[in-house]
Formats: sequence, C-alpha cells, structure tokens
Amino acid sequence: MYRSHNCGELRIENEGQNVTLSGWVQVSRDFGGMTFMDLRDRYGITQLVFNMESNVELCEAARKLGREDVIKVKGRVKERSNKNPNRDTGDIEIEINALTILNESKVPPFTIEDDTDGGEDLRMKYRYLDIRRNSVRDNLIFRSKLAIETRKYLDGQEFIEVETPVLIKSTPEGARDFVVPSRMNPGQFYALPQSPQTFKQILMIAGMDKYFQIVKCFRDEDLRADRQPEFTQIDCEMSFVTRDNILDTFEGLTRHLFQSLKNTTLPSFPRMSYDDALKQYGSDKPDTRFEMRFVELNDLAKGKGFGVFDNAELIVGICASKQSGQYSNKDIKKLTEWIQRPQVGAKGLVYVKFEEDGTIKSSVGKFYDDDALRTWGDKMKAKAGDMLLILSGEAEKTRKQLNELRLEMGRRMGLMDPTEFKPLWVVDFPLLEWDEDANRFHAMHHPFTAPKKEDQERMKTGDHETMKALRADAYDLVINGVEIGGGSIRIHDRALQSRNFDLLGFTKEEAEAQFGFLLGAFEYGAPPHGGIAFGFDRLCAVMNGQNSIRDFIAFPKNNQGRDVMIDSPSPISDEQMGELKLNSTHIPTT
Ligand code: ASP
Repeated sequence: MYRSHNCGELRIENEGQNVTLSGWVQVSRDFGGMTFMDLRDRYGITQLVFNMESNVELCEAARKLGREDVIKVKGRVKERSNKNPNRDTGDIEIEINALTILNESKVPPFTIEDDTDGGEDLRMKYRYLDIRRNSVRDNLIFRSKLAIETRKYLDGQEFIEVETPVLIKSTPEGARDFVVPSRMNPGQFYALPQSPQTFKQILMIAGMDKYFQIVKCFRDEDLRADRQPEFTQIDCEMSFVTRDNILDTFEGLTRHLFQSLKNTTLPSFPRMSYDDALKQYGSDKPDTRFEMRFVELNDLAKGKGFGVFDNAELIVGICASKQSGQYSNKDIKKLTEWIQRPQVGAKGLVYVKFEEDGTIKSSVGKFYDDDALRTWGDKMKAKAGDMLLILSGEAEKTRKQLNELRLEMGRRMGLMDPTEFKPLWVVDFPLLEWDEDANRFHAMHHPFTAPKKEDQERMKTGDHETMKALRADAYDLVINGVEIGGGSIRIHDRALQSRNFDLLGFTKEEAEAQFGFLLGAFEYGAPPHGGIAFGFDRLCAVMNGQNSIRDFIAFPKNNQGRDVMIDSPSPISDEQMGELKLNSTHIPTT
C-alpha cells in the first residue's frame, strides 16, 4: 500500500493514528537531533519529523534525501507544538518510523514554489515540474471543474454533446487552416477545424435541436498572450430559437459558472449595439467596470478658430474624475507622449482641468474662454477636480485611440478591480466588413451568419453602400473588456446563403466545391437555428482575473507556436514524407 491518506488530508482529529503517506520531498530542514521535512502531493503538504533519538539510521537516510525525491513513509500523527495556520494540515506532523525511497530526482532546474525562479521557457520545457507548483495545478483543477459545471448546466437544459471530426475540410472563420496530408489520397489534405461551425449547423438540420461540445479548435495565426494555435471552445447550437433565446440561455450558463466556481452572483447582462459600443467606448469589447464614456464635442468645439479641431472629423473626449490635481504639466506631457507612441498613434492631446478652486486650465485656453470650456464640462458632466482629455481627427482612428487612453486612465485610477465582473452583450454587428486593401467584403463574424430580418430584402438586391450598412443577428459576450464568446443566428435558406457567398467573392463553383454539402442540406428542411461559442481557456483566465490563457492550458505552445517540451513541430523522416507523397520526387507528375 502506498498511502492511507494523501498529503492534504490529516487533521488534529487524526492524532495518534498510524498512517502511510507518499509524495515528493518539498524541502527538508536538519536540526541535528531532528529533521523536518515537507512532503507534497496534489492535495497539499504534510510535515514529517525524523527523530535521531528514536532511530539513527532512519534519520540519516532522511538527511540524504533531496528536493523532489519520491518517498513513502509510515508514522504516527502528532499534534505540532508550533502550528502553521496557513496550511490545512498545519496542526499536525507525522513522526516517521519507516521510509522507502520510491524514486530519486535530479535537482530540478527551478524551484517548485509559488514564486519560482524559473523563466517561461524553462518552465515550459519542464512543464511536468511546473505543473507540480500550486498555481498551475490549481488552474488545471479550476479548468476541470469549469468543464464539469458546463456539462452539468447544458445537460440540465437538454443539450446533447456530440463529437465532430477533427480531420475536416476548411471552414473559413477568418484565420489560416492547419492542414494534414492524406496518405491514402496523395496530394490532398484535410484541414483541422477552426471551429465545428458547419457540423453543428448540419446537426440542427439533422434534428438534434440543442448541441454542445467542449471542443479543440485550430487556427494558424500569429500568437499573443491570449491566443494559442489550438484552443478550446464551449461550442453550442440551437434550433427554433430567436437571438434572445440564445442570449438568455448563455447568460444562464455564465451565471451558473460564476456562481458555482467563484461564488459570485453576476450583475445584469445589459445589451449594447455595436454602433453604440464604438461611439461610447471606441471598442466592440468595452470594459464596463468603469464609466468614462466618450462624449462628442463637435457641436461645441468647432468653428472657434482652433484649426486642429476645425479640420477634424470627430472631436471626442473622456472625463477623468478627480484627476485635475493629479496631473502637473509634466505629467500631461508624459501622458501626451504615451498616446503619441506608434502603438496608439494619436497626434496630440487636449486637456481641460476644472480645478477644485473653480479655475479652469486648458491647453486650448487661447481659443476657448472659460465660458466655452464650461459648456464642454457641462456636456461631459465634469465636476470641480475633474479633467477632460480630448482627442480629434478621423472618426474611426480617434475612437480607437481614445479607447486606449480610456483603458490606460482606468488602470491608473485603479478602476479595474480584478475581483469585479461586468458582463455585456454587444449585439447587431455589421454583417460585412469592407477590406480596402483586398477590395472585397469579408464576413464580420463568419459566412453563415444571417442578416437581421429587416435587412434580408436589402441584402438580396442592394448596392455597395447598402451592403456596408447591413446588420447581422450576431452578438458577443464581453466580460471586463474581454471577448468571452460570440455567435449568431444563421442563414438556413439556400438562396440567401448563396447570395452571401456571392457578396464574399466566392464564384458559384467555389461555393459549391467548399460548401456544397451545407447548401445541399439546406434543401432538406433546415430549421431556423443559431448558436454561440465561448472561448473556454479565456473564460478560465477572466474568471481568475488573469490575462494569459497559457496558464490554464496544461501543455501550451510558445510564441513561435512550438511545444518546447516535446520539441514540436519537427521534421519527419524521408520515409514518412515518401508515404505522404510530399517529397518532390514523390509528387505525382500527372
Ligand atoms: N463558430 C463561431 C466561432 O468560432 C461561433 C459561432 O458562431 O457559434 O467564433
């Protein structure tokens, strides 16, 4: 028997019991007559005591143990004289009377502690050691529980989990595909799914009514902290539903997950149109933990002889509450430099300070007298002590820049509490997005998204400008400024789907070759349907107030898309290349 208890289990109630524990040596402290050792497993840490007086040989063996050696011990549970209130097992220790070394460990390349000395690359290379650390282990446990609660909730709503294939053909979700050569079909390739989109729609046509899957998706994109080439979605689809049915169902799921895993009751899930989100926050994923909404000043600030504003398409600002006293001229200069960095790219920054003593200070005082500036302040609901920060220029760019500034001010002012959660549905996304460079439309969500009912007729016949203005029944769930997921009501009519492929620049033949199966299925009684997918890894990170999804993935890839532990991707043998007909010498000539 390896153990009677695990290392996180024993309490004062177990005093006097003879127990057996197995685990890893975390640390040992030798006090001559006694050696104390922390033994660790997934469940916790228990203190062991080896006493020289009772067994010299045993004590000497214990002294020789190093970090991460795997041992089995037998002993008696004793009350500790100096208790450790920070540890669940901190009231007791085990007086050891037998020790077996199960396996020795080399000295690990970094410390297995919460604050490790290991850098990212080293931790990834030895991920099995990294996962022994509390934080990583806890993240994986959280992830497991999140998956289980997701299944429980959706099962309770009569969703059925269906596995869809991993070797498929390209489904355009806006990224590049990973492809897999087919040995049995030389010169042909499978694509790994960017999402199970077409399959879940087919399942609706097949009458499954409510589908879900916790599923791996693959997108060959440049990587960032919140992206991985393979990631997991909670993917869902429902039949005979309106947009609001879907939003309500997934609000329910999100509430359940926060309640069961974080003991948090979420506030309401307001809905905001895409247009309003851009106008008020400059972003389709606004962080609504704080206000600082955009206020437009074109009507008040134009035509007063200040050329920069007079020539701007948009003059727009935010009101930073109680900041006028916090920003000296030097600080404003620094903030201006911050916003002029190429990453943000604003030309300049206009400020108006409403000082506590009633005076007004502004960088544009030459052009606007106090009365004029006060009208801005009134429109922006500024109080004494507040500071307006105003940008101007081309509308779309200026909004993006002000979004960056708003977020930066939110950070500086401590308004982004990681323990607070503010959900928001952003709805009514544009259907199509015009790509100036490629001179063509892209689907803003994906090509299967339906235009809003009132836009369907216009979509069939409209001109270019009409197409740009079409709205889709598409929605995103945003929490604390992070896009948790998105979905849409789908087209379920062959003619409308064909029209959409047309608009997206597919020829009839291309549409047929890529999506003939779906278009064909639409002709056999496709029910109205729609769905959504949540980024599972991202949800884990957001629920824990963290940015990096990597910390919630057992074996993530680095920024070059490499798994440094198994050293992948890697070359394959000539023999494999040959079998796959990938060598130039093997590519068939006809
Ligand atoms: N397939 C979509 C995505 O991966 C989600 C959906 O429309 O349901 O973003």
